[in-house]
Amino acid sequence: MADTTYRSAFASAPFTPADWASYLEAQVTPYLPYCLPCLRSLQANSSIAPGTIVYLPSENTVPLDSIVRYQPAVNAGAYAHPGLALLESRCGHLVFVAPVTSFRGAGIQAKYNRIGAAAKNDIFWQYLVLDTHLTPAHNDLAALEIAGDRLAKPSYVHLDQGYWIEKVQLAVQGAHLGKRTTVTAAALMYAQWAYAVAEGHRFTQQMQMIQASSLAFPVVEWFGQGGLWQNQLFAMQYSLGGDEQSSWRSYHSPGPISYAAGRS
Ligand SMILES: [Zn+2]
Repeated sequence: MADTTYRSAFASAPFTPADWASYLEAQVTPYLPYCLPCLRSLQANSSIAPGTIVYLPSENTVPLDSIVRYQPAVNAGAYAHPGLALLESRCGHLVFVAPVTSFRGAGIQAKYNRIGAAAKNDIFWQYLVLDTHLTPAHNDLAALEIAGDRLAKPSYVHLDQGYWIEKVQLAVQGAHLGKRTTVTAAALMYAQWAYAVAEGHRFTQQMQMIQASSLAFPVVEWFGQGGLWQNQLFAMQYSLGGDEQSSWRSYHSPGPISYAAGRS
């Protein structure tokens, strides 16, 4: 059986610094339905740039109309947690944030102490170490080098469940203590690349699942394939238009639409 783990996805991924930014943007923009600050003609807030460790406040302090509430990857556990800003929208109002976790301060090794090697190839490769002074390496991926203040706990960037959010809804992690943590420019580029590889891996997995399930359940598959198709509808309904949508469409269209059309 083919190795379908994240580890194998990273092993076969090219590292092409010139290409990954547009690739990542194409991967994550399906989750970008609209920008309220643009709709309200507000000035772009420049205090949070990609590379900043941010803090997403508790759920009850985030307005109901924030974009973060309308994204499939965001669950209750995302709130009141830090994250790493990976990308910003062209208008400058929004950032795409990858969640940062400390596994309750224990680190990933302690959290997944008991699982087998196969599971580690999948789970361990979904996290990048953030700053190494507290945290030993758990895979072959690079650790993200910190600029500015160090973090208080062993911390990891989750290469999944990222979300777009208005910058104005975010705080800078540690700002209440007068601190500000960023990753270096090289580390930011690496994190963007890694997130893009992980996202591409999920896309491939989902396509394979759809193909496999359609052989057994051709009708159920069409209505029940879940996330990707729903995201696609969502993005079409709330499209920002312009480049972001067209770059996304060129990557994603060969998925469910062409597949379903070919099967009828
Ligand atoms: Zn905007």
